[in-house]
Amino acid sequence: RRERLLALVGTEGRTRDGERIELAANIGSPGDLPIALEYGAEGVGLYRTEFLYMAQDRLPTEEEQFAAYRQVLEGMAGKPVIIRTLDIGGDKAAPYLNLPEEENPFMGFRAIRLCLARPDIFRVQLRALLRASVYGNLKIMFPMVATMEEFREARSLLEEERARLQTEGVAVAEHIPLGMMIEVPAAAVLAETFAQEAEFFSVGSNDLIGYAMAADRMNEQVSGLYQPLNPSVLKMIALTCEGARKHGRWVGVCGEMAGDRLAMPLLVGMGVTELSMSAPALLSRREQLLNLDLGQAREVAAQALTLGTAAEVEALVHQAYGEAV
Ligand code: PEP
Ligand code: MG
Repeated sequence: RRERLLALVGTEGRTRDGERIELAANIGSPGDLPIALEYGAEGVGLYRTEFLYMAQDRLPTEEEQFAAYRQVLEGMAGKPVIIRTLDIGGDKAAPYLNLPEEENPFMGFRAIRLCLARPDIFRVQLRALLRASVYGNLKIMFPMVATMEEFREARSLLEEERARLQTEGVAVAEHIPLGMMIEVPAAAVLAETFAQEAEFFSVGSNDLIGYAMAADRMNEQVSGLYQPLNPSVLKMIALTCEGARKHGRWVGVCGEMAGDRLAMPLLVGMGVTELSMSAPALLSRREQLLNLDLGQAREVAAQALTLGTAAEVEALVHQAYGEAV
């Protein structure tokens, strides 16, 4: 089986009937690239830049960030690379920022919220990204966006830094697709509106499930409620796909759900066209995809959305694809 899977390295992700689905890798640093490439990643669907900010006891400089982003873009040699701007706060701490203790960190000061409140920190990252953009196929996305104002404000800061670099004579790619993560239910529900301005979506299922079910998967008392296949979670992803489709945008998934064998047919059936996961899962998902009929996946996904419980959805997937899924 390993041989069979390894033979898939270098092939494109496609369903049995030829629909193109990009299979990308999640990375946390340039050091993760060799493994991503070894498993045949067609791109980087999520580069979690916060590790740059957590590896030291101070903020990374613009040069340090530029070097890391450039290395990833060059390493992927023209394949798409989605770099997510800083998602710190919540469970991702940076003690040197001296952030106030919060009673409810997951509903608190993190990610884009922190970046918009601290443009001094955010602008440094944006400049590093813009400068790196000429070294490959860069897309930028913002994490934890809940309102249109946040998206617009973050985009304005990016545009300001672009203008400033250009007056300084620094080369910046002409167009850098700008997207956002869908990981706050508010954004999923309003996806059609967001899609007027965001050029792509990437569903952060880890957070989206947690916020949708109001359950922390690390808390044993309630982790049973953390249900990726709950129809309410699937409906939010379906809304995201419908909203995106109306404006000609594409949707990816970069949370754990993207690499999950039970979820995959449902995601593809709802209209997701990019799945970004930890590298070792890539080959089995690629093989599964090759056996997947898009028409059937659409029917199964539509049926899943009419069900009432995660258990029923799971039974449906098994019934449609057998225990081997
Ligand atoms: C997610 O929430 O699904 C996600 C990909 O972001 P992170 O896991 O980094 O919070
Ligand atoms: Mg997240």
